[in-house]
Amino acid sequence: MKPFLLTFDVEEFDYLHHYHEKPLNADLYGVSHEGTKRILDLLSKYDIRATFFVTAKFALQYPSFIKAISKKHEIGLHGYSHDHHYESMDEKLVLKYLQEGKKILEKITQKKITGFRAPRMGMTNYSILKKVGLHYDSSLHPTYIPGYYNHFTEPRNCFTSEGIQVVPVSVTPLVRLPLAWLWFRNLPLLYSKLCIRWSFYGTGFINTYFHPWEFVSLQKYRLPWYFKRNTGDKVLKKLDKLIHWGKKKGYTFMSMGDFLQRR
Ligand SMILES: [Zn+2]
Repeated sequence: MKPFLLTFDVEEFDYLHHYHEKPLNADLYGVSHEGTKRILDLLSKYDIRATFFVTAKFALQYPSFIKAISKKHEIGLHGYSHDHHYESMDEKLVLKYLQEGKKILEKITQKKITGFRAPRMGMTNYSILKKVGLHYDSSLHPTYIPGYYNHFTEPRNCFTSEGIQVVPVSVTPLVRLPLAWLWFRNLPLLYSKLCIRWSFYGTGFINTYFHPWEFVSLQKYRLPWYFKRNTGDKVLKKLDKLIHWGKKKGYTFMSMGDFLQRR
């Protein structure tokens, strides 16, 4: 079996803060809400399950929506608030925010939350995640993104650290080419297909991520060109084509929780 994990980071669209003085809630939350609905329609077209990493702040804005998603898909924690930088925050505060965030998601979904992805892939201390009662983490993007992080030499394969199972985001062997959101959206579909086929080597799975706000046209906002390019219908169609291709290739689309249980 070739597991293919589609994951979506459902968050307040806080990049707007960098370019807009006072973004409205309709823009901060509404854009991700709209994008998530479009993704859900696409996933049901193919009847596949995925993982949605949700911030507690977003879930509090749309509790019934998140509850409805949890009936079909897996919900994981994407931090309490997307503007939190857990990698540089006091450990006691990280513990408090993550415990609170997990509690909020569990109350809304009436399900146990086991997975975590840090906002902006900021690395987290695994022992804190263990204390929070989480089982796995998917915050490691083992490549070099100038200006953000350098995890070029970190493992591409799953491993366990301090009782937490780590599921790295997929990149290719050797040159560690990324294939998730910005790269998927801005580069030709052929690039993603080749990277996906290559990334299976040595790991046997694909873990990729997108943001629901990418699935809504962002042309009206003041944002860098690569943030806006191919957003909305264009990326939705591209993801549709990717899933269609993946199914034909015999890849098995599943949630991250299901993937870990089968290992
Ligand atoms: Zn995020």
